[in-house]
Amino acid sequence: EKLPLYFKGSVITGFGRGSKQLGIPTANLPVEELEEELKDIPIGVYYGWANVEGLENDNVYPMAMSIGWNPFYKNTKKTIEIHLIHHFERDFYGAELRAIGLGFIRPMCDFKTLEELVKAINDDIEYGKKCLEKPEFKKIKQDPFFINKQ
Ligand code: ADP
Ligand code: MG
Repeated sequence: EKLPLYFKGSVITGFGRGSKQLGIPTANLPVEELEEELKDIPIGVYYGWANVEGLENDNVYPMAMSIGWNPFYKNTKKTIEIHLIHHFERDFYGAELRAIGLGFIRPMCDFKTLEELVKAINDDIEYGKKCLEKPEFKKIKQDPFFINKQ
């Protein structure tokens, strides 16, 4: 496997699929700059850590990340959408987001109903948070990628 995954980029507008309305906003990253990192990465849902520069002291939060196919590029490029598991008082479009993907949760799948989708995402979040408690993953919160801004 290709884990861990290191991603950084300025948060862009997504597809307006209403993630926020579902209570699960996802910060989208520009894929043009991440082609190398995304090459050969299986699409699906991952967990890890993420932070946003200038937001709440650059604190590092647990995250759930979906890597899928991007309809904008006729599904020839991938998308990255990151849900930080924390409540923010404001949006942070344009800010630099950094994420380290540590584990694979599940492949992409189609859900019959919105309720099933929301349930699956909430399960992903709970599972990811639990995995991140393991000492070997917890210590990645202190990774130089977040601290020194390398
Ligand atoms: P879009 O389609 O533009 O991605 P979303 O409904 O997915 O819209 O909302 C994503 C935006 O919400 C992010 O770009 C960010 O500015 C904001 N946001 C607020 N809280 C969070 C959070 N906990 N995780 C991710 N994004 C968040
Ligand atoms: Mg989004």
